[in-house]
Amino acid sequence: MTCLKPEGKTPGGKTAKGMDFNAYDEMAPRHAEKTPAELRNGGRVKSQAAVPTGVYRPNNNIQTPDMRSPEYVQMSTAAAITLGIMTGKMYRCDCTRCLNLLLTYPEGCRANCAYCGLARHREADRDYADRNFIRVDWPAVPVADIVEKVAADGENTPFHRMCISMITHPNSDADTVSVLKAWTDRIDPATVPVSILSNPTTMTRDDVATLHGLGADIFTVALDAATPTLFDRTRGKGVQSPHTWKKYWEILNDARDIFGKEKFGAHLIVGMGESEHDVISVIQELRDMGGHSHMFCFFPEKGSLMDHLPATPRDQWRRVQVARYLIDYCGARIEHMSFDEHGRVSDYGLPKAELDGIIDTGLPFRTSGCPGKFQEDISACDRPYGDSPPSNIASFPFQPNKTDLRKIRRQLGIPKTVN
Ligand code: SF4
Repeated sequence: MTCLKPEGKTPGGKTAKGMDFNAYDEMAPRHAEKTPAELRNGGRVKSQAAVPTGVYRPNNNIQTPDMRSPEYVQMSTAAAITLGIMTGKMYRCDCTRCLNLLLTYPEGCRANCAYCGLARHREADRDYADRNFIRVDWPAVPVADIVEKVAADGENTPFHRMCISMITHPNSDADTVSVLKAWTDRIDPATVPVSILSNPTTMTRDDVATLHGLGADIFTVALDAATPTLFDRTRGKGVQSPHTWKKYWEILNDARDIFGKEKFGAHLIVGMGESEHDVISVIQELRDMGGHSHMFCFFPEKGSLMDHLPATPRDQWRRVQVARYLIDYCGARIEHMSFDEHGRVSDYGLPKAELDGIIDTGLPFRTSGCPGKFQEDISACDRPYGDSPPSNIASFPFQPNKTDLRKIRRQLGIPKTVN
């Protein structure tokens, strides 16, 4: 078993129009086929009503059982390998440091985000628990078994963090509370802190406060799209999805008030049609609020409404990675950077020697996300190969070595100064 998907989609150096970035006009989602009535809302799983019998491995040629949170959650392939629930190897990684959990229901996520493998339109071809998400399968496991295993490891757990990913479902607010309580009843949040990847569409400020009161450490909003127009096109009205930019920012502001500085953040996907200036402006805004941005490189997820589009060219992605690291951890500001007529970073406003030193640490190119126990700027949430194939890594789930850094510098177009 492996967490790696055999896929040939790697970013080109240039897009169809000869640009080295994914421009808005080229990144339109495709339209979804109509779902037959009997397959809507988890129809196949509910009509078959197969009883779950413990761990369910996706796409295993058996009827997908009727599994539901809070009794069941899904976990990333990397987490399942680390926990010993699945066998397998990850390219250049021994384990993941984040136990990423995902609420699960036969009805699945009721939103329809264009870039997401979990989107509602997929009920036409795949039961929810069998859908790929950030390029990997997510086996379903009883929550009680997960808690038991992690509690048994005590201080020796490999995990530096646990994360509950909510989805858009009428029960997800209450079930997130149940899963969090089941965890904190047995596991000290000081040993394994908990992040909440929220679903603002169904939440109120009181819900945010409840999760904080129950011991959640970091609260995150998956903004994903960097501008209101792009948000609407990819996860709002443009794809018959219920999310709005306004509601997402409302809950993000609630998170700032309730969780406080350094304890909230937002996911952003780079390369869906925004300019580099657009996304770096949001990164700066989040930092000014006291939070952090957790970045993903756009990858055309199989089965999604953007699966026909190009992955983000690596030079665009690397430029934004560097800018994000400088703003989040080095005190740099967008006002000190320069941009060209396409909004691409043309200068970071730093002496070359200083920039060289920061690039050489490799830290800007590691997966960004909620911190673990190593240091503030190293994410526990390393999401191995969640946004690229291992043949052309976007977010490094490990420390890049000298060979990796040479490739990164070529992608950035910033050769090292030789004295
Ligand atoms: S970055 Fe944080 S909130 Fe986002 S998936 Fe990882 S642990 Fe969860």
